Formats: sequence, structure tokens, C-alpha cells
Amino acid sequence: MARIIYVNGRYVPWGEAWVHAEDRGFQFADAIYEVCEVRHGRMIDETRHLGRLKRSLAELEIAAPMSGAALGRVLRETIRRNRVVDGSVYLQISRGVRPRDFLFSDAVAMQPTIVCLARSMSRQKNNAGAAVGIAVRSMPDIRWGRCDIKSVMLLPASLAKEAAKEIGAKEAWLVDEHGFVTEGASSNAWIIDKSGALITRQIDSSLLCGITRTTLIDLIRREGLELIERPFTIAEAKAAREAFTTSATAIVMPVVRIDDTSIGNGAPGILTTRLREEFHTMAEAAHR
Ligand code: PMP
Repeated sequence: MARIIYVNGRYVPWGEAWVHAEDRGFQFADAIYEVCEVRHGRMIDETRHLGRLKRSLAELEIAAPMSGAALGRVLRETIRRNRVVDGSVYLQISRGVRPRDFLFSDAVAMQPTIVCLARSMSRQKNNAGAAVGIAVRSMPDIRWGRCDIKSVMLLPASLAKEAAKEIGAKEAWLVDEHGFVTEGASSNAWIIDKSGALITRQIDSSLLCGITRTTLIDLIRREGLELIERPFTIAEAKAAREAFTTSATAIVMPVVRIDDTSIGNGAPGILTTRLREEFHTMAEAAHR
């Protein structure tokens, strides 16, 4: 089936989904995005994803192109037209088009560029991957100082993931100048210590406040588990009982190796697996 992409008010075939050459998203990475899981045809945690999108826009002073409800309709229609039952939906908003110029505040009101795409992913394949777990590679975090904004400035993340792939790892864990893990290249990083406490870095401008992370914290609290929000090092992670990542597409993904060190007995952890299985009992499933 041909994929349909939403571009500035129109649903067009993949081959016609063009954005202008002087779009600021293209020239300056002046754009933000969201990725939301689609499960049984429903968006997971839509409210939180749209809330974070609104915040990203506000932090960059990009005018919201339409209401949250209208964006929700675009997301749903893109899912529907692509017949996605299990997969993800991606929404990107750039500041818009203008002749190339570093400055933008003096421009005549720009019309933000909106793109929305949806793709299917096999839930079985995702679960099969989680049954084995993934390896991660530690890499220096060379990104900017506002990683709390979900901007499309993803080149450092892309390079880190390529480097991870070289050693057979699926994700990179990024390490700050003090030796602490900030987050994964496209996920949040977690460990479980010997006492069973869940540890993940507290939210500040060095990492993204993951929606999966937020919902998982709700679940951790509901289950009465211990949560500690603080930075941890790669050495601490290598000695942890369990480790995992969270993201909208991988949900809770066990980490079984960091660089050349196996975590625990080298298999997905018991608590990690339980949290993965229970995650959707906590998450919001939006109406179709
Ligand atoms: N950190 C980064 C850098 C990411 O790109 C992502 C995934 N978009 C996450 C964390 C996880 O966020 P979420 O749970 O909202 O997908």
C-alpha cells in the first residue's frame, strides 16, 4: 500500500511529499517533533505527547500552527489513511519558510511547516527483540545544552547510533563531561540496583523528559517500587542488576550488555520484563 504523508494541510503520496528548500527545518534544524506509539490503532499517551509538543514550540517561540485538538485529528487521519494498527506516528513542525537568514524574529509572520507520517511496526517483532534484549555502547554526549526540547537536531544522536552499530549495539548511552549518563541517543536510560531500586537521571536541560519515562514512573509508584532520580555512571550501570531503556517505539527495552560487559546474567531482567508487560495498563490509549 502506498504511504500517505500529511504536508501542510494535504494528504499526499510519499513521492509527492515535498517541503520547500528554504524551510528553516532543513537549513537550521529549526523544528521540533513528536513520536507516539500506535497500538491496536490507538495512539498511546496522546495527551502527554501533545503537551510536550506544545512546550517544545513555546521554548523555541514557534507559533502553534493549530490547536491540540486539530493536531490530534491530523495524527488520527494519518494513522487511518496508512492503515496503521501497530506502529508509530510522527509529527514535525518547523518555524517555516523564508530566505536563508540566521535571524527570524523580524520576519513577517511565518507559516509553520507541518508534516505527519505514520508507519506500521510488528508488535511481535518488537516483543521478540525485548525477549532477547539489546546491547548499548557508551559514547560522549556531544549535543547542545537544551536537550529538553525535542528538536530535529539529531545528527549527534544519529552518529552515536552508527557508532553503536559498529559493535553490534542497538543504542548509544550518552555520557556527560562528568562521567554520568544523560540518556540514550533516542531513549531514556535506567538501571536497577542490587536492592531493586529503579534509578534514572532527574529531568533537566541535559535530557529529554520522555513520555514513556513519565508514564513508567506512574507505574513504578502504583506498584510501590523504589525510584531514585539521580545521575549514574557507566561503571555503576555495568554493575547493576538490570538495565533498560524507555521510548515510545521500544517501550521498556531490556539492556543486556553495555560495551563489552554483560548485565546481570546477560538475559533481560525480571523486573524490567514485568514493567514492560504492565506498561500499557498505566498508559493512556486515545480513542481512534
Ligand atoms: N530521549 C531522547 C533523546 C529521545 O529521542 C527519545 C525518543 N524520542 C526519548 C528520550 C524517549 O522519549 P519518549 O519516551 O517520549 O519516546
